[in-house]
Amino acid sequence: MFKKVLIANRGEIAVRITATLQQMGITAVAVYSEPDRGAPHMLCADEAYPLEGKTSAETYLRGAKIIDIARRHGVDAIHPGFGFLSENDDFAQACADADIVFIGPSPNVIRDMGDKIIAKQKFVAAGVPVVPGWSGKDDATAAELSIEAQKIGYPVLIKAAAGGGGKGMRVVHRAEDFAAAADAAKREANAAFGDGRIFLEKYITSPRHVEFQIFGDTHGNVVHLFERECSIQRRHQKIIEESPSPALTPELRKKMGDAAVRAARAIGYTNAGTVEFILDQSDKFYFLEVNTRLQVEHPVTEMVTHQDLVRAQLLIAAGEKLPFTQESLRQDGHAIECRIYAEDASRNFMPSTGTLLQYRPPVGPSVRVDSGVTNGSEISVYYDPMLAKLIVHDVDREGAISKMIWALRHFVAMGVTTNIEYLCAVLNHPQFRAGKLHTHFLEEHRIGESNKSKGPSNGAIVPDEALIAAALAAGAGRVPLRSAANEPETIWQRAGHWRNV
Ligand code: ADP
Ligand code: ADP
Ligand code: MG
Repeated sequence: MFKKVLIANRGEIAVRITATLQQMGITAVAVYSEPDRGAPHMLCADEAYPLEGKTSAETYLRGAKIIDIARRHGVDAIHPGFGFLSENDDFAQACADADIVFIGPSPNVIRDMGDKIIAKQKFVAAGVPVVPGWSGKDDATAAELSIEAQKIGYPVLIKAAAGGGGKGMRVVHRAEDFAAAADAAKREANAAFGDGRIFLEKYITSPRHVEFQIFGDTHGNVVHLFERECSIQRRHQKIIEESPSPALTPELRKKMGDAAVRAARAIGYTNAGTVEFILDQSDKFYFLEVNTRLQVEHPVTEMVTHQDLVRAQLLIAAGEKLPFTQESLRQDGHAIECRIYAEDASRNFMPSTGTLLQYRPPVGPSVRVDSGVTNGSEISVYYDPMLAKLIVHDVDREGAISKMIWALRHFVAMGVTTNIEYLCAVLNHPQFRAGKLHTHFLEEHRIGESNKSKGPSNGAIVPDEALIAAALAAGAGRVPLRSAANEPETIWQRAGHWRNV
C-alpha cells in the first residue's frame, strides 16, 4: 500500500479523503491556495504545501506545480477528488510519467469518456440504450444541423461534446429557434471547454436522473454498487441525492446495473466511476455519460452499502483486487444527501459570500456531515460555494426524510445565505415524500416561490431577526474568529432552532 498520498483538491472532499488515508495509516499531503491558508483541508492533513496564487487556474488546476510538490516530498500517489484535475487525462498521464500513481482510471479511458460523442458510441457498441440523437460530423453547417434536429423531433437538446457540470446545454423547442441556439451553443462550448463540438439529443420531458456507481480493478473484475437518484437539480446540477431510487423495481435495477457493468467491462474501466442514465416516464432508460472519478454524492452509496469508496479506490490503484464482489454487496436501508450551498434560492441560487460566523453542523445517530468549512471560514468568490454535504441513513425512505429534516433544522450556518430552508421545503413537499421526482421538480412545483410567499413554512422555526443581527454583530466585531467556537455559544443556545440568515 502507498505510504504517502497527495490530495490535489480542497474543501470537503479533501477533508473526506484525508480521513480515509489517515485511517489506513497513510500520510496525507494537502496543497492549498492563498485564500485556503488555514482552511480545514490544510489543517487536518499530515503535511501541507502552498500553491502560490489565488484563483483555481493558478493553483488547483496547475498539474505541473502539484506534481512538482509530490516529487519533492516523496509522494507515491495523487488523489484528484472531483472537479479540478480529476477528469483531466493529460494530468493522469503526467502523473504516470513522473512515476506517481494517479488514483483513477487510465488516461485513455478518461479521454474517451470525457468526449460525450465517443462515450455514446462505445456504449452503443456495448448494447446500452442511449438517448436518440445525432452526432454526425464536426463541421456540419447550421442548415444540416437543423435538418437533423427536425428528424429527431422537437424539443431537442444541444449538448457540448466536452460538456460537464451542467454547462453547455441548450433546449430548443421550435425549429425557428434552432440556428441561433446552435450558434450560441458552439460559442459557449468553445469558451467554456476550448472545444466547440456539439451534438443533438432528443429532449426527454421530465425524466429522472438515475446513476450507477461502478468499480473495476486491474484484474478484470467489474461490479456496480447500485444506484443513486439525483433528479432534484437546479441549473442541471444536483442538490439532493438518494439511494435507493424510489423509481426502481428489483428487475429494472438489475437491468440498469447489468448495462452499466457490461459497458464498463467493454471499455476496460478501472477504479471508481459513475454511469449516468435518464429514465423516462415509461421506465425506459438511456445512457447519458460516464464520470470518471469519485462523485460528489458518493456518501449515499457508502451509507447503504457500508463500504468506504475512497478505501476501495486506494486498494485498486495499488493493484489489489476489489474488496467486494457483486454477490457480497447489499443495499441496506435508505440514504439521502443534501448539498448545503452558500446561495440565495430566492435570487436564482446566486452564490453568497461572506464570513461564516457560526458554523455548527448537526450530530446524531446515522447523520454524517462532510464539511470543508468551520467557524470563521471566508466564503469567497474563488471557489464553488458548496459548504458541506449532509447525509443521513435510516431503515426506509420515510425515516430518512424525517431524519434529514431534523438534521437540516439543526444545521447552524450563520453569516452567509444558505439553501438550508429551501432544502427543507423540498423535503417537505408532498410530491417529494411520495417519491414522484423528475429533473424539473423544483421549477414545476415552484418550490422557492411558494416558500417565499408563504414565509418560512414547512414547520421551520422562524428566526428572531434581531437576535441574529446581534449574533452577527457580536461575532464580527469582537472575537478573533478562530475562537468563535467558544464565544457565541450562549447566543446559539438562546436562539434555539433559529434559521439561517
Ligand atoms: P455531475 O453532474 O457530472 O455528476 P457533479 O455535480 O457531481 O457533476 O459535479 C462534480 C464537481 O465537478 C462539481 O464541483 C462541478 O461543479 C464540477 N465540474 C464538473 N464538470 C466540470 C467542468 N467541466 N468544469 C468545471 N467544473 C466541473
Ligand atoms: P453534465 O456533464 O453537465 O453533467 P449530463 O449529460 O450528465 O451533463 O446532463 C446533465 C443533466 O441534464 C441531466 O442530469 C439531466 O437532468 C439533463 N439532461 C441531459 N440530457 C438530457 C436529455 N436528453 N433530455 C432531458 N434532460 C437531459
Ligand atoms: Mg452529468
